[in-house]
Amino acid sequence: MGYKPKHFSFNVDGGRCDECKGEGVINVSMQFMADIELECEVCKGTRFKSEILEVKFDEKSISDILHMTVDEALAFFKDNNEEKIVTKLKPLQEVGLGYLQLGQSSSTLSGGEAQRVKLASFLVKGVTTDKTLFIFDEPSTGLHFHDIQKLLKSLQALIDLGHSVIVIEHQPDIIKCADYIIDIGPEAGKHGGEVVFAGTLRI
Ligand SMILES: [Zn+2]
Repeated sequence: MGYKPKHFSFNVDGGRCDECKGEGVINVSMQFMADIELECEVCKGTRFKSEILEVKFDEKSISDILHMTVDEALAFFKDNNEEKIVTKLKPLQEVGLGYLQLGQSSSTLSGGEAQRVKLASFLVKGVTTDKTLFIFDEPSTGLHFHDIQKLLKSLQALIDLGHSVIVIEHQPDIIKCADYIIDIGPEAGKHGGEVVFAGTLRI
């Protein structure tokens, strides 16, 4: 039908719904109250034109796929032997973001999630990027214990690629893995700011 990849993107004109510009929702400004979001009546929240939604890959439309979580999409594309897509998605799972929806807007991510998306993007680019100093501000926020282990693996992967990592953290499981620790305190805010300890962990 002459469709190109851009027709399956909600970022550019072509395949996306013209009414909501691919947002799936319409913002209604309420004069004296906060704006409200209404589902787009034209695309019914699917973000695309109906002719684009008729295109299916293994019975899924682009809207169905964007509603999948990273974990679900990995299983789906693995079953279909789409190695290229699996390689791109894998790092997101490895930094503990398997629960995110593919189509989720970046503005709805928490600070910790946004940092982990960035981390995943660098893991994909791998060895081709210049050696970089990464500074993370509490990247473990909101993570469960087994996801913290994943995050640590990803940070170690950056180091193995030759990058350097500085992490600001409260989480002891992460602190204890550092090659060098600087403890700022003794308390928070204006009751702190002094270097309490600097050195390596002694076991
Ligand atoms: Zn729409």
